[in-house]
Amino acid sequence: MSYIQEIEKIIQDIVPERAGLTKIELLGPNIAIYVKHPEVIYEENDVVKNLASTLKRKVLIRTDPDYLMKPEEARRIIKEIVGEEAGIKNIYFDPLFSDVYIEALKPGIVIGKDGTGLKEIMLKTKWSPIVLRYPTMPSSTLDGIRKSIVTNAQDRKKFLTKVGKRIAQPLPQTTWIRAGMLGAFREVGRSALFIQTKNSKILLDCGVNQASNKPEEMYPYLNLLGFPLSELDAVVISHAHTDHIGFLPFLFAAGYDGPVYMTPPTRELTALLQRDYINVVKKYLNMDPPYGKKEIQEELKHIITVPYGEVVDITPEVKLTFYNAGHILGSAITHLHIGEGKHNIIYTGDMKFGFTHLFNPAHINFPRAETIFIESTYGKKTDILPSRRESDEALINVIQQTVESKGHVLIPVFSVGRSQEILLVLEHYAREHEWNIPVWIDGMILEASAIHTAYPDYLKNSLKKRILSNDSPFEWDEIKLAYGKDKKEIVDGEPSVILAPSGMLTGGPSVEYLKLLAEDERNTLVFVGYQSASSLGAKIQQGVKEVPIIDDNGKPKTLKINMRVETVEGFSGHSDRKQLIAWLGNISAKPRVVYTMHGDYNKTAELAHYISKKFGVHADAPLNMEFRRLR
Ligand SMILES: [Zn+2]
Ligand SMILES: [Zn+2]
Repeated sequence: MSYIQEIEKIIQDIVPERAGLTKIELLGPNIAIYVKHPEVIYEENDVVKNLASTLKRKVLIRTDPDYLMKPEEARRIIKEIVGEEAGIKNIYFDPLFSDVYIEALKPGIVIGKDGTGLKEIMLKTKWSPIVLRYPTMPSSTLDGIRKSIVTNAQDRKKFLTKVGKRIAQPLPQTTWIRAGMLGAFREVGRSALFIQTKNSKILLDCGVNQASNKPEEMYPYLNLLGFPLSELDAVVISHAHTDHIGFLPFLFAAGYDGPVYMTPPTRELTALLQRDYINVVKKYLNMDPPYGKKEIQEELKHIITVPYGEVVDITPEVKLTFYNAGHILGSAITHLHIGEGKHNIIYTGDMKFGFTHLFNPAHINFPRAETIFIESTYGKKTDILPSRRESDEALINVIQQTVESKGHVLIPVFSVGRSQEILLVLEHYAREHEWNIPVWIDGMILEASAIHTAYPDYLKNSLKKRILSNDSPFEWDEIKLAYGKDKKEIVDGEPSVILAPSGMLTGGPSVEYLKLLAEDERNTLVFVGYQSASSLGAKIQQGVKEVPIIDDNGKPKTLKINMRVETVEGFSGHSDRKQLIAWLGNISAKPRVVYTMHGDYNKTAELAHYISKKFGVHADAPLNMEFRRLR
């Protein structure tokens, strides 16, 4: 009997005959079972539990498409069950998967106490409800991605079935494991780590280095793999920053056709930032982007979302679990369990083990880990961030002083992460003091903030509570939208704070504002985030007073930096040196080997040296292009 036949036999034995089993589908890491009468399974509580524990997989119970209620009728009944106060915005049906998507402002009401609402919808309409939170402010990206799931249902089903078959193989013997350092080793940018066993090939992250415009420094060393990309089994993404996802669509241009695993908010943010990246490459680097919208579409079809804490099989011998990394919305620490207890890997991605307004600190409870890959952005001994109270005060002071002298404050920020954190600092202060300085936001900041409001479960408890009770700080009165406005009008207007990407002045609206503000000494430029060594941001931060730019007529000119330049540390979404060490000291797993990554050349080495001294483990800072055997 083949492995798949064995699975089918187990299901046939457990599912009661009167449920009328018609079809079994392997859908990616999950198993879907189609029955004529799903209510039979709901009556007998143990069936789903039994299936899951025997098969060690997530089992989805679905109604056979012939037994589903007609969509129009079902729509009426769902509205009746749920009532007006849930604020339903959209209901759409996916007959291929027997799913109905319900988008509501208050999903809790749709779900009902202990899921009673969901059960009633399922029993009355036979459709399986998937409830999504509608953002408190509209987001066209979110809308587009959510609807595309249904429009692409046919392709997705074919794809998921293919992945499901690949995963449902008997457990092979794990004889060796190795790691290939393809990017962001002894540097920041183009994150890519390759994990290989005799039977599995997995890529963790696939980013670009935005601080460079030389192709050999921009992209990960995928050519070192020595096999066609179509042979990769899975790609796993830690979070949506461009240095971790910027090169991902290229894989689809180069023949990859497999799954990409990430958390649900990471999917939304990824689509947003990749579209932005294409524009930045064209407009500011004057280069052809390595991929286009078509590849991003292709990538979206291949994404399988996995929430925090859920264990999924990604190859016959590798299980994946994501945990909160505290860095940006949806950011994950990746845990790989290989060969039934043979070896465990933790890849931190970018992480914050400390206070922020947005997220709980990074997860520390891990079952086991023999090998840890840890980020080192602030890995040097002296990389100690000030307390958040000091940072908040320092930022507010700079703003007060600038506004009093009738100037503007320009804060270059990443659209995702830092910009929301800064907005919360300002909103928090304004709420406690009489403060009404306009805060302009530009670039993708508005869309990114909207996506935050759709995923309160991924936010810090206090912030989640505010969003759930319709008191979202992202909809604060002083937030002004710069979209479609003439930037000159904004800088000619009353004193203000301007938040704009990119965070390192490598392109995007922050550079446009810089051109308008730099020569007037009443204005202030405030850096609140990491500036990569070769970026324009780093140069100005170090005191460069004249920078070459291209003016509006396409002519080169020299921009004088007369404005005040300040750096306020402490808002970082990264752990500082103390927090990195505290995280390592606090996690329950005791590693054999720690590799440092995602940090400047010397910082990674310094951190590794300290870790090996302090914890008595083997720690090391490998270089790009190295391969290491894991044991
Ligand atoms: Zn990041
Ligand atoms: Zn990063």
